[in-house]
Amino acid sequence: MSLSYWEYKTWLSNIDFTIVGSGIVGLSCAFQLRNKFPKAKILILERGILPNGASTKNAGFACFGSLSEILDDLNSHSEEEVLQLVKKRYDGLQLLRQHLGDQTIDYIQNGGYELFTKEDKALYEECLSKREQINKLLKPIFKDDVFDLSANYFHFNTIQPQYVINQFEGQIDTGKMMDALLKKVQSSGIRILNNCTVEALNDDNSSVHIKTNRFTFSTNKIVIATNGFASQLGIKGVKPARAQVLITHPIDNLQIKGTFHLEKGYYYFRNIDNRILFGGGRNLDFKAEETTDLAQTELIQQKLEDLLSQIILPNTRFEIDHRWSGIMGVGDQKQSIIKQLSQNVFCGVRQGGMGVAIGSLVGAELADLL
Ligand SMILES: Cc1cc2nc3c(=O)[nH]c(=O)nc-3n(C[C@H](O)[C@H](O)[C@H](O)COP(=O)(O)OP(=O)(O)OC[C@H]3O[C@@H](n4cnc5c(N)ncnc54)[C@H](O)[C@@H]3O)c2cc1C
Repeated sequence: MSLSYWEYKTWLSNIDFTIVGSGIVGLSCAFQLRNKFPKAKILILERGILPNGASTKNAGFACFGSLSEILDDLNSHSEEEVLQLVKKRYDGLQLLRQHLGDQTIDYIQNGGYELFTKEDKALYEECLSKREQINKLLKPIFKDDVFDLSANYFHFNTIQPQYVINQFEGQIDTGKMMDALLKKVQSSGIRILNNCTVEALNDDNSSVHIKTNRFTFSTNKIVIATNGFASQLGIKGVKPARAQVLITHPIDNLQIKGTFHLEKGYYYFRNIDNRILFGGGRNLDFKAEETTDLAQTELIQQKLEDLLSQIILPNTRFEIDHRWSGIMGVGDQKQSIIKQLSQNVFCGVRQGGMGVAIGSLVGAELADLL
């Protein structure tokens, strides 16, 4: 694409900071940079018409890990690391709510629930027996017991008799959150160019030369906030993980309210606008879901429908309205990768399934690093 003198001069010259990716991390980082450098020229490049990774596709759980997920994390992380992971999610959520306001993002603290299927008896018993130990571990953050037990008052089918309930868990409207973030960033004079994919970059120690699918230009510093797509720009330690979702049409008298976790968080559902949003099933075929292809598969969509009719809505007629998928960035460790890659190149990637929670904090930490 050949650009005019004016186009280069106005949009692509003297750029102080370029951010690749307009997900929650890229936008939060841009916003924090604006606060630190009120006069800086900041540009965001986004490959999609809208943000096109995970931030506009997620389930909107304002959560920080179910009991079984925390127990699972303790198999691969130390107690201190797990405590820090939970603290970051908690602090990140506070920051998000502070920035945008609970009303703007429809934050509601309806509580979170972990359900266990009949097949998950061993996990259920482990969770019951270690509940108090984990409550003690998390006490410094929440100052109260996080996990309690409750009877099956939503009448889910074929599950263990009690849920683990988490009073601190909430939910947001993902679309409203991202719309508010985009508006905040744009109204502070930061430009976002959509439909623009960064293909390569080269840091010569004084500036970074960027090749996109449309034009080339230079920037003083660049931040890569492309999460599940990070390996495409040479970042190691993060793999794509597709997550598939469906949503029902509105259901009359829907009583289910809250955010729900099943099978160590591999399945999750919530109420929204009198509908059930239901996602997960990546564990059915990890290899096939290690992709950046935003598609759905028969295997996973069918399993979601089966669980919906067998466990979640056994006595309610429902119809599926819409299906989609998003791409997360995962790795062997749960911590995000926030680091300087060369003199002028930085990255903040690998948010796993918790980017709503930690995204604002990752953005702020990136801006501090810069
Ligand atoms: C279905 C689903 C459900 C989820 N549910 C929850 C939840 O309930 N709670 C929670 O906390 N987290 C959840 N997550 C995770 C959360 O959404 C992510 O961790 C978070 O959105 C990551 O934000 P990000 O900004 O790092 O990445 P992204 O939102 O993926 O942003 C990266 C952006 O970079 C762009 N991009 C990529 N490559 C390039 C390139 N070369 N040039 C230009 N642009 C590029 C992409 O289009 C994308 O917009 C879920 C994720 C999915 C997919």
